[in-house]
Amino acid sequence: MNQFKVKKIVDQAFIEAELNKEQIAEILAADINDLDYLLQQADQKREEICGDEVHLRAIIEFSSYCKQNCYYCGLRKDNQQLKRYQLEVEEIIETAQMAAELGYQTVVLQSGEDDYPAAEIAEIIKEIKKTTAMAVTLSLGERDFEVYKLWREAGADRYLLKHEIADKVLYQKYHPGMSFENRIESLKYLKILGYQIGSGVIIGLPEQTPEIMAEDLLLCQDLELDMIGSGPFIPHQQTPLKGSNRGTAEMTLKFTALSRLLLPLAHIPATTALGTIDAEGRQKALQAGANVVMPNVTDGRYREQYQIYPDKICVNEEAGDCRQCIGSIIASLGRYVSQKQGHSLRD
Ligand code: SAH
Ligand code: SF4
Repeated sequence: MNQFKVKKIVDQAFIEAELNKEQIAEILAADINDLDYLLQQADQKREEICGDEVHLRAIIEFSSYCKQNCYYCGLRKDNQQLKRYQLEVEEIIETAQMAAELGYQTVVLQSGEDDYPAAEIAEIIKEIKKTTAMAVTLSLGERDFEVYKLWREAGADRYLLKHEIADKVLYQKYHPGMSFENRIESLKYLKILGYQIGSGVIIGLPEQTPEIMAEDLLLCQDLELDMIGSGPFIPHQQTPLKGSNRGTAEMTLKFTALSRLLLPLAHIPATTALGTIDAEGRQKALQAGANVVMPNVTDGRYREQYQIYPDKICVNEEAGDCRQCIGSIIASLGRYVSQKQGHSLRD
């Protein structure tokens, strides 16, 4: 694509936060070497909207049990080679309190879809809210609608549920027994309940096209997301997609930059998956629109077993190491770690 055309589309996105499907697909299909301007403008928009502060969200991966069978994920039920673990209520609360002591302002409770008792999760949320000043994000997959309500009433602030791919046929193919409609209805209901909602996609799943990714971005705009995340697909040996190509850092960066221009008020993470396929991946994303990093605070004993994808970075580290490492990455970019909770920028 010639530079003049790139500039025209990027300028429109920068000014209006609006592009049509063809324009988005055209940018996503272009060679990254022609897209310096896209990345620069996304960085500028990030600076305008978010300034130089970077929000950290501490993730606790508290259970690797999962009843779903997503085609790409190492935690899928049919992966019998994976040794599973589940933390007790007390351990989760203690880990969250340790995260607060390390200075985190948000904790993300994440797990496979393991039917952890809803009342126990509610108890955990209440205790974290009572004993720390942290915002609480849940990333527990789909649950009954009344459970979302219970957790909101217990004090949860945000819910993270990626729609993964905005093509119903491919969604159905990669998520046997699950429904795209229910995923989207869940996100809409969570928003009605007053949660700040996060969604996002896996970049580079087989058969995903620039047109589908353009639909992903349009859907994210429709949902008025408070957070949008995108990480490259990394094939896992014990899954049906083991022989597929992985997603690329380039496509993830293009998607990140477009996310910032089309949803200027969204929080956008530089994902661990991107840091896994490219040693400088998170730094690059932070310079292409991202303003959030999600360090792991799970006890080192369990990290190896939360194998969503292979070779995940930081599995041999402990929470304190990750906090320091991320802090220096952020400082090296001339940015700083926010001391605020980093609520939605939409309010
Ligand atoms: N069970 C919850 C949360 C844990 S999975 C849920 O599914 O929402 C968190 C995210 O990991 C998923 O949303 C998916 O986007 C990502 N993921 C799973 N397998 C992956 C893989 N092989 N490569 C990259 N990302 C993957
Ligand atoms: Fe389970 Fe989430 Fe992995 Fe799907 S992506 S198999 S729901 S942990």
